[in-house]
Amino acid sequence: MSHKLNIDSLCVREYDDPRTTTPHQLPIYATSSFAFNNMEEGIDIFTGVKSGHVYSRYGNPTIDVVGQKIADLEAYNTGLDAFGYLTSSGMSAISTLVLSILKQGDTVLTQGDLYGGTTELLLKVVANSGIKTIFIDLTDADAIEQLCLTNRSIRMIYLETPANPTMKCIDIRMISRIAKKYGVITCVDNTFCTPLIQQPLSMGVDFVIHSTTKFINGHGNSIAGVIVGHDEKFKKQVWTTLKLLGTNCSPWDAWLINNGLKTLALRMAKHSENAMQVALYLSKHPRIKKVNYNGLEDHAYYEIAKKQMKAFGGMLSFEIIGDIKEVLSILNRLKFCTLAPTLGDVDTLVLHPATSSHLNVDKTLREINGITDGLVRLSVGIENVQDIIADLQQALL
Ligand SMILES: *Cc1c(COP(=O)(O)O)cnc(C)c1O
Repeated sequence: MSHKLNIDSLCVREYDDPRTTTPHQLPIYATSSFAFNNMEEGIDIFTGVKSGHVYSRYGNPTIDVVGQKIADLEAYNTGLDAFGYLTSSGMSAISTLVLSILKQGDTVLTQGDLYGGTTELLLKVVANSGIKTIFIDLTDADAIEQLCLTNRSIRMIYLETPANPTMKCIDIRMISRIAKKYGVITCVDNTFCTPLIQQPLSMGVDFVIHSTTKFINGHGNSIAGVIVGHDEKFKKQVWTTLKLLGTNCSPWDAWLINNGLKTLALRMAKHSENAMQVALYLSKHPRIKKVNYNGLEDHAYYEIAKKQMKAFGGMLSFEIIGDIKEVLSILNRLKFCTLAPTLGDVDTLVLHPATSSHLNVDKTLREINGITDGLVRLSVGIENVQDIIADLQQALL
């Protein structure tokens, strides 16, 4: 450049390092847009003739590679060519997917014990677009088949297995079989398991969503989600909806997820191993009435869990004998476990559903579903299990 820039313009200039050594770790592309070398390149990228990035709401290298990695994990050994889009939260993964696939007059068939936010989303937001929701017991194959047969507006079956906080399992293969027969799309919220434990795509499911906030990130330092699918006919539709709703993930959160993913296999194995030990300990404790853990052979859903899960995961719940005051004082005595309304972190987390996640659910309804005042949910961490058990032991005295 023959013209010499003034010092204030130099402040504004972006500098490029001409050395192109490959970074060992994924860089955070903190950029809202991507510069074109010339007008022709810009036009080619915009029209899809050439692949490339344009604007970070439409995709960004940090976000895209992490979304694809989760898709590859979900599709591992299935032979499917899956796509994955990171979103700003688990909730936005669900809203983006539902709004991209369904339209006015369609119905979602789902279970009554979904993650509370998902139920509210369907009833308070999605319903405003003329999309109905029907709640049913998704373990009842005959009832599902009957409904699909008589109500042709059902276009999606949406499920969570194991369900929060009772660990009730739904037979994923059974749901896929019925759904396929009636041309219904299926989506599984796989947040509790991660693809290391359960791969719904391998059982015929169309979509998997995650709150990556939980086990996938694992360190409790970001809120994000992901939509994974494999049917090419939906790919563009999901991406377009995500782009227009603006429910994209930030590159910073994508980068944190990427860090978490590296230890996901180790963590899920340790979560499962520790949860089994804690479940066995609690099931022998005189102050505990019931332990809900899929790894216990006497748990009502042990057989289904064994059929579709590679391990039993880190989540469990248990019922303390006593009134609510006694239960709360036991929880207040915990010193090592953390009272926090999330799950899937490396440390052990405790939640009391009756006074938090299910506070607004009618008491009789909640008790019918096994969510009593004495029920405690535990997200068992990867610490030394002796320390978790010792803390529970001193609190339960
Ligand atoms: C937390 C959670 C969500 C919502 O995810 P956010 O990241 O908080 O938006 C959805 N489903 C399940 C099972 C969850 O645990």
